[in-house]
Amino acid sequence: MNTLLKKRESLLRRMTEYSEFLRGSITSVCSTCNRATCICSGRSKGKAYRLTYKDAHQKTHTVYIPCRQLAKARKMVANYGKMRKIIDEFQMINIAIFKQK
Ligand SMILES: [Zn+2]
Repeated sequence: MNTLLKKRESLLRRMTEYSEFLRGSITSVCSTCNRATCICSGRSKGKAYRLTYKDAHQKTHTVYIPCRQLAKARKMVANYGKMRKIIDEFQMINIAIFKQK
C-alpha cells in the first residue's frame, strides 16, 4: 500500500515538471500565402508556424507561433505527451489502490 502511495506522490512531482504543456499539433505554412501547400510561384519565402488544437466542443483553434518561440512550443507539445503517460500511470496505480480497499 505504502509503495503505491509513494509511486503516486512521485507521479505528482513529475506532473509538476511537465505542467507547462501545449495540446495540439504544430504545422508550418508559407509565411506569404499562409498555406501548408504554397501557392506563391517560385518566390523565396519563409515559413510560419502554428499550433492547431480542438477545444472541449471539438472546435478547432489555431494559434500563431512566433519563430523565436518555436523550440519552446515543440518542447511544450512533447510535455503534453509525457503528461498523458503520467495520467495512464496514475490510472494503474489508482486501480491498484482501489482494489486493495
Ligand atoms: Zn506561399
